[in-house]
Amino acid sequence: MHELALMEALRERALEQAERHGGGTIRAITMRVGSLAGVELEALELAFAVVMEREGAAPVRLRIEPVAARCYCHRCALDFLATDGCCECPDCGHISRDLLQGRELDLVSLELDE
Ligand SMILES: [Zn+2]
Repeated sequence: MHELALMEALRERALEQAERHGGGTIRAITMRVGSLAGVELEALELAFAVVMEREGAAPVRLRIEPVAARCYCHRCALDFLATDGCCECPDCGHISRDLLQGRELDLVSLELDE
């Protein structure tokens, strides 16, 4: 399951940042997940629980900020919401290869217990 590897990486980054901010216990993690990031949110949450519970640590909450995919059409100079992961311009039907957002898989913030 590739979500598991992603969550392992996220955990590493979160621990690194927690360390940098004084080493408190992580209570919650906020992530930004694009609709075209190629992950299932349910699988992501499951993987998160597996990764975080492995070491018998205090429970950590995962908050997900979904990001809708947006594309840009050069013909119409228009940016639009990509529905169903398809970047077809609603005005001219041109398939855009210019994805403005939607592939995010970022750690946004941590909530630490001092
Ligand atoms: Zn267009």
